[in-house]
Amino acid sequence: MEDNFMNVWEKAVDILKDEVSPIAMKTYIEVIVPRLINKNTVCLLCPSSYYVDTIKHRFVELIRNALNYLTSVDYEIVFEVKTTVPENEITDIDDVEIIRGQFGDVESLDGKEKLNPILDIEKIRENAGLNKRYTFDNFIIGNNNRFAQATAYSIKDNLGLTNPLYIYGGVGLGKTHLMQAIGNAVIDEDPSKKVFYCSGKDFVEELVNDILNSKKDDLNTNFKNKYRNLDLLLIDDVQIIAGKQKSQEEFFHTFNALCESGKQIVLTSERPPKEINGLEDRLKTRFSMGVSVDIQTPDYETRLAILKKKAAEERYVISDDILIKVATKVKSNVRELEGVFNKLMAYTKFTNNPLTDPVVDNVIESILVKNSNVLSSTLVMQVVAKFFDLPVTDLTSDKRSTKIAYPRQIAMYLCREVADMSFPAIGKDFGGRDHSTVLHAYSKIQDEYENNPDTKDLIDDIKKTLEREG
Ligand code: ADP
Ligand code: MG
Repeated sequence: MEDNFMNVWEKAVDILKDEVSPIAMKTYIEVIVPRLINKNTVCLLCPSSYYVDTIKHRFVELIRNALNYLTSVDYEIVFEVKTTVPENEITDIDDVEIIRGQFGDVESLDGKEKLNPILDIEKIRENAGLNKRYTFDNFIIGNNNRFAQATAYSIKDNLGLTNPLYIYGGVGLGKTHLMQAIGNAVIDEDPSKKVFYCSGKDFVEELVNDILNSKKDDLNTNFKNKYRNLDLLLIDDVQIIAGKQKSQEEFFHTFNALCESGKQIVLTSERPPKEINGLEDRLKTRFSMGVSVDIQTPDYETRLAILKKKAAEERYVISDDILIKVATKVKSNVRELEGVFNKLMAYTKFTNNPLTDPVVDNVIESILVKNSNVLSSTLVMQVVAKFFDLPVTDLTSDKRSTKIAYPRQIAMYLCREVADMSFPAIGKDFGGRDHSTVLHAYSKIQDEYENNPDTKDLIDDIKKTLEREG
């Protein structure tokens, strides 16, 4: 029976060749060792749980159809992780843990995950800077992100056609997730594709190190080669390069080189290109050349759907009433939603106590208060005042001496930069000043930040403290 089945399997593989790309055949199909368990059930032995997930998701229907076409049997397909699978090895089916096909229960794979030495896709993913947690599968689509998701999804199959894809929106709304999902999908489809993800911050840091290590001006060829030989470059929070001349220049050339050779660039940022202060005009133009999509804050339905999906993923039993309460109260972004969710789950896990209303309220409050701190002008003022050794009230006072006016301007600048407040709102918090006063302060400090290394160091120090305190 087993021998016959191997013949059937080989024919099935032939059929699949018409529908699956050669590289995916090599990566995913040819590594499978099939085993007939009984007349209706086939077990597919795969090198790791990653393969199980991918094959289940992408190929199991094709496999089932091919087998059905050849034998007229509608097989149930189950999976097993087996790190080294000698060809035609006969396995004692009783002692293996079976992960049921996509319509059955999924059981734990603990201790069975090892990488396939032949094609170490996890290593490829890691080198590309990607986190496998971020996929299209677990990205919930809502009115706030529908267009962004659809565009991102189509880009993965059309690399190089629309450059760049520019995703923008506030913090914690899913920009990184979506961007990484593109990279993961491209690598899953074809592990030989050269994908690289990095934050704008890392890009700048790497460039600076490269320049420091270069003896001659043109020695940063490593840097150049690395970035210019990619199929897909993902740069997250690209706004950080604004105001940094050398980084902008290098990025401009990288951008052009990739575009010209038909490669794909995806960028994320807090704001649309034209609203990034300090970004060179030629980059603003380049960034606006392709397609820009924004992600808004999620509505109630999307928030609830995200929570339910998380609960299902984590197999965490939690009542709908609690999820509804969280979705109702936590509105501003998905990161906060996840923060609350994780805290509730930790509470259940570590205390084994039921989630009572006061407990849930407390958790929600703790996350909301923590995050509102990050965004408050109060915190910015406290930190700046401490840096300059002034009482906080000086910052909101009418006093005009440079000793006070300068820290006040820096605090206003930071309220805009770090807390993302509007100019009128900042004016209001700083003793009812006019928004044009704030604008003036902002431009002045921004100019100094870009041109005076001392100011830059000072502000970067304050920013670091703010990050810690927040
Ligand atoms: P951003 O980069 O915009 O600041 P992230 O992509 O880091 O936001 O998202 C914050 C968290 O919220 C991540 O853990 C991410 O997986 C999750 N998340 C955001 N949007 C969604 C969504 N639509 N569906 C599922 N999870 C999401
Ligand atoms: Mg992000």
